[in-house]
Amino acid sequence: MTATKNPFYSNTLQELKILFNTHQLPKSGPELLYNWHHKKKNISPCLTDLAKISIEFVNNHFDFSLPHIDFVQESNDKTVKFLVQLKDGLKVEAVLIPFNGKYTICLSSQVGCAMNCSFCFTGTQGLKRNLGTDEIVGQFILAQRWLTEHRPQDDKILNIVFMGQGEPLHNFDAVKKACDIFLIRHGIGIAPHKITISTAGYLPGLERWKGEMPNINIAVSLHSVIKEKRDVLIPINQRYPIEDVVAFAEKIPQGRTRFVTYEYLLIKDFNDSIDDAHATGIFLKDKNAYISLIPFNPFPGSKYLRPSWDEVEKFKKILDDYQIPTIVRKTKGDEILAACGQLNTKLIKGP
Ligand code: SF4
Repeated sequence: MTATKNPFYSNTLQELKILFNTHQLPKSGPELLYNWHHKKKNISPCLTDLAKISIEFVNNHFDFSLPHIDFVQESNDKTVKFLVQLKDGLKVEAVLIPFNGKYTICLSSQVGCAMNCSFCFTGTQGLKRNLGTDEIVGQFILAQRWLTEHRPQDDKILNIVFMGQGEPLHNFDAVKKACDIFLIRHGIGIAPHKITISTAGYLPGLERWKGEMPNINIAVSLHSVIKEKRDVLIPINQRYPIEDVVAFAEKIPQGRTRFVTYEYLLIKDFNDSIDDAHATGIFLKDKNAYISLIPFNPFPGSKYLRPSWDEVEKFKKILDDYQIPTIVRKTKGDEILAACGQLNTKLIKGP
C-alpha cells in the first residue's frame, strides 16, 4: 500500500521549515518552494534551485495536485465566476471581482453551509463538508493562473474576502492556516489588512479570531437589528444574538489596519423601511460601526426582492443622520449570479 502524500498547499512556511529540519535538509528549501509554487504559481516541480537531496524528498513526500476548474463564467463587467471541482467530485465557487484593473477574490470555505440563512442560495444546499486548507489556497492559485493566462495586462489579485460558500469561522482551523499561507512574504504575500472574513455572527469563531488572527478584518452580516427579522434571516441569531456579537466586537481595539464592518442586505418590504433604518441607527450610534449596504440580488426561487435605488438612498440618508459611516456596495456579476449569497453549485451547468 502506498502512503498518502502530504498536500503541499496545506503547509505553512513554518511547517515546511520544521519538516526540512527534521529530515536534515538544507534550510533554504522551504522559502525556495514557496517562491516557486506560491509566488510564481509554477505547476512543474522546482528542479533548478533546490539541492538534489531536497528534490528527492519533495518528490517522495508531497502531493502538489490542486482542484481543477470545471467551468468559468465571465460577466460584462469583467467579474469571473469559477466552478471548482474538488478531488471527491464536490464543487465550490470562487469569484474574481474587478476594481480599477485589479481584483478582489471571493473564496469559499465550505461545501454548502450549515447556517441556513433564508436569503442565501448557498444555505439552501446544507453543509456537505469543510474545505481543507489546500482546497482554499487552491482556489486562489487556480484563479491567479487563469488571470495570468487570459488577462495578463491586469492580473493582480490585491484583496481576499471569505464571502463565498460557507461560514468561514465554522471552519476556523483550515481558514486560519490558509490566511497564514496567503500572508507569507516569500509566497503570495497579501497584506493582512487586505483579507476580510465574513461571518453570520458565529460567536465561538469570533472569540478565536480575536486571539489568533491579528490584523485580519471581519465583516459581520447584520441585515437587521430587530430580533424577529434577524431570527428569520440568520437563524443562528437565536443562539448568538446580534447584541452579544456587537458587544464582543466593541471590546476589540480597532487599529489603523483592523476593522469590523457590518453588512446590511437591503430586502424590499422586509428590512428596508424608514423604521428599520432608524432602529439600525439607534442600535449602532456611537459604536465602532462601518456599514456596507447591499441591495439584495434575487436568485431563482428566492422569496425576497430587491429595493429600488431611491429606497436604498433613503435608508442611507437616515444612517448618515446618525453619523454612522455608510457606503452602498454595488453588486457585480449580477447576470452570472456571482454576488454575495448567490453561490450555489447546483445551478451552474458545465459544458
Ligand atoms: S449567508 Fe453565509 S453563513 Fe449564511 S447560509 Fe449563506 S454562506 Fe452560510
